[in-house]
Amino acid sequence: MKQPGILVLNAGSSSIKFLFFVEQNDDLAPVLRGQVEGLHTAPHFIARDGAGRVVDEKRWGEGTALGHQGAVAHLAAFLRAEGSNYALHAVGHRVVHGGMDHVQPERVTPDLLRSLERLVPLAPLHQPHNLAPIRLLLEHQPDLPQVACFDTAFHATNEDVARRFAIPSDLHDAGVRRYGFHGLSYEYVSAALPAHDPAAAAGKVVACHLGNGVSMCAIDGGRSVANTMGFTAVEGLPMGTRSGSLDPGVLLYLMDERKMDARAIEKLLYSQSGLLGMSGISSDMRNLLESDDPRARTAVDVFVYRIRRELGSLAAAMGGLDALVFTAGIGENSAAIRERVCRDAAWLGIELDAKANAAGGPRISTAASRTAAWVIPTNEELMIARHTRRVVEGRD
Ligand code: AMP
Repeated sequence: MKQPGILVLNAGSSSIKFLFFVEQNDDLAPVLRGQVEGLHTAPHFIARDGAGRVVDEKRWGEGTALGHQGAVAHLAAFLRAEGSNYALHAVGHRVVHGGMDHVQPERVTPDLLRSLERLVPLAPLHQPHNLAPIRLLLEHQPDLPQVACFDTAFHATNEDVARRFAIPSDLHDAGVRRYGFHGLSYEYVSAALPAHDPAAAAGKVVACHLGNGVSMCAIDGGRSVANTMGFTAVEGLPMGTRSGSLDPGVLLYLMDERKMDARAIEKLLYSQSGLLGMSGISSDMRNLLESDDPRARTAVDVFVYRIRRELGSLAAAMGGLDALVFTAGIGENSAAIRERVCRDAAWLGIELDAKANAAGGPRISTAASRTAAWVIPTNEELMIARHTRRVVEGRD
């Protein structure tokens, strides 16, 4: 008999990543993972089993426009194929923006889809791609349960004072406010922390999601209090290619003096800035850490300095700090960046255990450290799978 499971989709502009989870020991475990990439150029599908062995692969020729439609169809056919051990029970989607109205995972309906489509202007680079597979599955398999999980939802607990920009309030009322992102990652880390450090998990935590996208979140008693991302996922810290916060006057200057329009500024802020823009070398922290080019050093220095400043700000928002948690690509893998961040945070009571840090944790502060520091690998897909199971089984 085929084992029922949950498909988790993370759809971007040019790729769809997927994981397939089945029940295991009261939780969910991934048994298949893979992606279809190059959706509009040279599509490539690959699926691996839980041990990382390739179980299926297909390449379409250069110039084939498979699109989201073709990719979803291929994925559905792959899961249905003869010989597949699994049956598709439900699909969970990562959706970047839930706006003001969608603050927890929700079962997909045509009404929900219409409501999420209205949020496209708030996240034009992500939202349309997140919604494409939802729309296709709703059309072709209307009886298949689908659940939308929002990257903004975890921050719904932020108070009004943390959300407001100091602009006329009619704009706030129309939705121009701080939402925050990486919520599924923070939710996972929050759920995992009690097993490591129950006292800190019940207290004041700053989690640093340092990946290609970068943000930090103040979490008090398991609830998001503040985070560095705002109206869009470009606010806050410098990222791989995104600028992070800028003086808004810079935008006016770019428009008036450089005659840049909205699209040119969007490209500059989202694709040409951050580590890549500062260094002129790479958006990948590994390349910058290996380089002896002074521009690479400057980019890393600015990255660490901004984290130091935001850490003070987030600790101030909570009135203290019990633990600092590192996650995502850089946070999980770069002992050098963690070391610099922790040494900068000595004033907050963090004493780094250099040996534990070099070994990757999980605890990287000394036993005597007043404030703990941890490395907790994130797992946004597992979070989505758990939510999907709960919503489909009516447990939410
Ligand atoms: P993510 O978006 O979470 O997949 O993180 C991707 C980023 O993690 C990459 O762009 C790299 O900059 C960074 N990364 C991965 N491994 C390392 C490492 N060993 N040292 C420094 N940075 C790393």
